[in-house]
Amino acid sequence: MTFPLEGGCFCGAIRYAVKAEPLGRGICHCRSCQRIAGAESVGWAVNDIANFEFTYGEPARFASTPGVERTFCPRCGTGLTYQRQSTSIDVTLASLDDPEALPAKNEVWCEERISWNALNPDLNHHAQWST
Ligand SMILES: [Zn+2]
Ligand SMILES: [Zn+2]
Repeated sequence: MTFPLEGGCFCGAIRYAVKAEPLGRGICHCRSCQRIAGAESVGWAVNDIANFEFTYGEPARFASTPGVERTFCPRCGTGLTYQRQSTSIDVTLASLDDPEALPAKNEVWCEERISWNALNPDLNHHAQWST
């Protein structure tokens, strides 16, 4: 894998770069991700904060729960990042220019999974957070 990997929102107003191998990659089945994306689950790459940057445009910011900041494109609405700690930031896998670049390894928050969204038997499964 060659870094940086680039990605951005659907309309092109917001662009970002992932500058090094992420700390983790997973599909999140939590209810917050479902509701915010309007989707059955959301794939994320967990990045050291030093290895992620917005390179073009200014995303809108929203606190989905206290202490959690999510960003999205203010024009087209694409969900981009999730941040709960000052040390790491998650970015949506499907917003990468090459969505095959960082395959998910885990599925987390499986206890909130929607029943018709089958688990991938090739991945590791966790009821809540992956450790
Ligand atoms: Zn956009
Ligand atoms: Zn989630």
